[in-house]
Amino acid sequence: MTKVFRVDPRDPDERYLQAAAEILRSGGLVAFPTETVYGLGADARSDAAVARIFEAKGRPQDNPLIVHVHSYDAVPALVRELPSRAEVLMYRFWPGPLTLVLRKSGILAERVSPGLETVGVRMPDHEVALRLIRIAGLPVAAPSANVSGRPSPTSPTHVLRDLDGRIDAVVDGGPCGIGVESTVLDLTVVPPAILRPGGTTREDIEEVLGDVVVDHPVQTEGDWAPRSPGMKYRHYAPAAQVYLVETGADGSDPLARFAEEYHIRGLKVGVLASSERCSAMGERVERPGIVWIDAGSERDLASVARDLFDNLRRFDDLGVDVIIAQAFPETGMGLAIMNRLLKAAGGRVLRGED
Ligand code: AMP
Ligand code: MG
Repeated sequence: MTKVFRVDPRDPDERYLQAAAEILRSGGLVAFPTETVYGLGADARSDAAVARIFEAKGRPQDNPLIVHVHSYDAVPALVRELPSRAEVLMYRFWPGPLTLVLRKSGILAERVSPGLETVGVRMPDHEVALRLIRIAGLPVAAPSANVSGRPSPTSPTHVLRDLDGRIDAVVDGGPCGIGVESTVLDLTVVPPAILRPGGTTREDIEEVLGDVVVDHPVQTEGDWAPRSPGMKYRHYAPAAQVYLVETGADGSDPLARFAEEYHIRGLKVGVLASSERCSAMGERVERPGIVWIDAGSERDLASVARDLFDNLRRFDDLGVDVIIAQAFPETGMGLAIMNRLLKAAGGRVLRGED
């Protein structure tokens, strides 16, 4: 049985955090809220504890984990060197959704980043996560708390849906505010490379560092060598087949047309579209066999990101076979949104003129 510790996200009850910290100290698995998504935590120094994460999630062994800390002071012990640009970024963006890939020291379990010389480190911007890590008194390795390949969990309900009975506890601190994972930035290369776009925007990072590259944000085939093992895998995917739909060159909205095409073939179809597109459809969204979900406003990509994984999971609950998802502009949070949608779609993109 998975224990559930329900806490106030801003002022969590110390006794519950103590109990969760004790589980981490004794090699157990605890899911906990962060500002991005729920993490599945274990003692990052213990190979046995970290092995349990991979087992519970069914995660490929070569996909490295991010190590979470509660203070700047915890970082030097985890890394071989701390370049000054890393310190600048830490002070500017931590606590927050930015993971820095640095050369690792010897104190971490080999399984945290097997076969790599590096480790990804971050300080989450969430009172529950920070206090849990501090009380546990250890670096906490934590990937997203979902079954591998599924949409990441942004609520305790999502965590339990995937992992109930497979992990020791979940600290329930309510829904996550950002809703997509941290940005993973590799500082061991020149220029620095974004390995995964996320909650800290490319624009924000470039304001501090100058130009960075976005390394193969999505590629599902071919013989390129991934810099970050996670890039190899289909990810964030609901049970339904996702198609990402780009607007036609003439500006026409092909969402309804593609939805209709799949519906005619006898499939139950979900459409994920911005508030603007939904309202342009008017009453036509009330069509039997085609379910429209409002993804949020095109002018508020943060809200689209916050609800994205929950919306993908809602389509599964509704039992749709196919999801037609609108493409968003790749600026600001749009880069992370498009990365998740493209991976959920396994690279399948439909264009307006198709
Ligand atoms: P998740 O486990 O879902 O939070 O995703 C963590 C992601 O961070 C992985 O899939 C990797 O892409 C990336 N990552 C973590 N550590 C490293 C590292 N040392 N080098 C490259 N990428 C990393
Ligand atoms: Mg994940």
